[in-house]
Amino acid sequence: MAGLKKHSDTYTSTCCYCGVGCGVVLSKEKNGTITLQGNQNYPVNKGMLCSKGLNLHYTVNDKSDRLLYPQMRYHKNMPMQRVSWDEALNRTAAVFKTFIDKYGPDSVAFYASGQCLTEEYYVVNKLIKGFIGSNNIDTNSRLCMSSAVAGYKIALGEDSVPVCYDDIEMADCFYITGANPAWCHPILWRRVEAHKAANPDIKIIVVDPRITDSCGIADLHLQLNPGTDITLNHAIGRLLIENGDVDTHFIANHAEGFEQYSAVVFKRTLAESAGICGLSESDIRLAAQYIGKAGGFISMWTMGLNQSAIGVNKNLSLINLNLITGHIGKPGSGPMSLTGQPNAMGGREVGGLANLLPAHRNMSNPLHREEVQKFWGGTEISPKPGLSATEMFEALNDGSLKAIWIMCTNPLTSLPNARLAEEALKKAKFVVVQEVSNKPESLKYADVILPAAAWAEKEGTMTNSERRISYLNKIIDAPGEALPDAEIICRFAQKMGYKGFDFENPAQIYAEHAKLTAKTNIDISGLSYDILKEKGSVQWPYKKRSTNNGTPRLFTDKLFYTPSKKAVISAVADTLTSELPDADYPLILTTGRIRDQWHTMSKTGKVNKLNQHINQSFLTIHPADAEQLNLKDGEMAVITSRRGEVRVKASVSAEIKQGVVFLPMHWGKILGNDLNRANNVTNNLVDDISKEPDFKYCAVHVSKFEKP
Ligand code: SF4
Repeated sequence: MAGLKKHSDTYTSTCCYCGVGCGVVLSKEKNGTITLQGNQNYPVNKGMLCSKGLNLHYTVNDKSDRLLYPQMRYHKNMPMQRVSWDEALNRTAAVFKTFIDKYGPDSVAFYASGQCLTEEYYVVNKLIKGFIGSNNIDTNSRLCMSSAVAGYKIALGEDSVPVCYDDIEMADCFYITGANPAWCHPILWRRVEAHKAANPDIKIIVVDPRITDSCGIADLHLQLNPGTDITLNHAIGRLLIENGDVDTHFIANHAEGFEQYSAVVFKRTLAESAGICGLSESDIRLAAQYIGKAGGFISMWTMGLNQSAIGVNKNLSLINLNLITGHIGKPGSGPMSLTGQPNAMGGREVGGLANLLPAHRNMSNPLHREEVQKFWGGTEISPKPGLSATEMFEALNDGSLKAIWIMCTNPLTSLPNARLAEEALKKAKFVVVQEVSNKPESLKYADVILPAAAWAEKEGTMTNSERRISYLNKIIDAPGEALPDAEIICRFAQKMGYKGFDFENPAQIYAEHAKLTAKTNIDISGLSYDILKEKGSVQWPYKKRSTNNGTPRLFTDKLFYTPSKKAVISAVADTLTSELPDADYPLILTTGRIRDQWHTMSKTGKVNKLNQHINQSFLTIHPADAEQLNLKDGEMAVITSRRGEVRVKASVSAEIKQGVVFLPMHWGKILGNDLNRANNVTNNLVDDISKEPDFKYCAVHVSKFEKP
């Protein structure tokens, strides 16, 4: 379906918050301000927008917090001074060259964001991997989707979300686990709600230690103990096998690993699993019955599974349920991971993480490295994976990493164990912060500040959670001297003396990226800005000479991307490796989002309407736990862990499981003070494979705040 054509003052774009990727129509008024509405013609949202999307234009019109010109200081003790772009980039290039010559290419790193446009991801990835000679590029997508990336790769052979949103209206059972889409992916959730309202017999199972708004339409809420997802999924798997509800033809012809899987899931009795999960046997039986009898089955998940020290295994245990029932590659069925950020998917496509190469090529494959190196015409690509997000900050702390370039993200609020990250930036020899807003805490530690253009001030593309690529118009000019991120990186690369960064516009960058995907499984070599503008959006793959709108659903031929072409059913262990509660820290902390804020609030925090929903951080605690601590609703609570302390008001509620407490992740120094930053207490323990942090489980102590 084509998007609206550009009129004299009306433009189409895509919401820059969550990975649902809703289409918007922006109008530029005579006074230069913009207004916004949902795009009625866009297939994702059909005109609907959630509270965050509806208020997006306020964040664009309000320029009060914008960085307007480059700033620099020659010494940490000196104040920042306004400089020209040439001065800022010349000095940055000189410092980077010095470190690279003296300590090697791995002494520098880029830390980017799932909010970057695909073109921005592409050029920064090309710069460091193809020319500097290091793989030290990672993004805040490491904090949200890397466990799903690894899970897909193991199970399906590649990081490939197999479903499309239109599968929602064709499914008759949803297993929503580790996600609260009613708050975090609201427009997608409205589609689920509408489907349920029209078809009351479809079944919705929500798995969450908290009673969230997503439970409102659930037929079954499994309020499991945190960290026991694999045990639950295995118990359901066992019941599906026992009940004869597995797809034996699919397993025999299109999957491998079933025997080992079967052996693992039969190790625990249902009673044992129910005890571990804190659930009744009958509820687990009911879940298995709903899934087993479904004609179309969608598993839907996000951070509750991904942000875990066993996140990859959690993903695999869930994808297993789709595989053993054969619910993949057909309408209304499949694993549907929900992306937290608007373009985490685009970043994955260009290989913008420390362990990826463009178009899902493997860093460990010498032929893949050679292919990309020849295409780029730069230096040899290192086979050594670069530093992941948390590793970068650990390496700054131990001195092995000298310089970091932070682009479009706010790590001192969003990284786990934030005090450690703060120490890291204090110790860093050289910090570049490329940013839109003057609010992020990292600016305090910057040696160079580069003002970036914001959403609607630059053109480019993004990919949403269903592989849908959309074109975002530039609608207004950036204030002051702010530049689009891709242009900043290309100017810097040229200052470094590298060839291949003389793009005249983002369309040329996109064309190069598209060419590099040819003959891979995400092939978009047939795609261009012109086609995207005409069609509004397409779903990859979109090969040369394609005339349709791309590929809504993958694996309809049941040929997976593994060497054997079979999907892999994984016999994963259900051992929890998180920091367990003990006598000193007896409660389990889980963190998450609230409905009207997004990430670290640098945008949503500017909108009064959004702040009215919940205007300060809080700790959700069960009444029984609160009573034991003599802590009343609204009183100040002190939450401590082995890493730090948080002080926020208690919200006493039976919506959380006893023994578990919840903190929202949004607050930091941007709005408030650093004592309401949840990541003061979270753990920088990560999953061995995905390197995704364990935001959903750490041991804490809670007490009532007593004035000294
Ligand atoms: Fe934006 Fe996500 Fe809301 Fe859609 S659901 S309007 S993409 S925040």
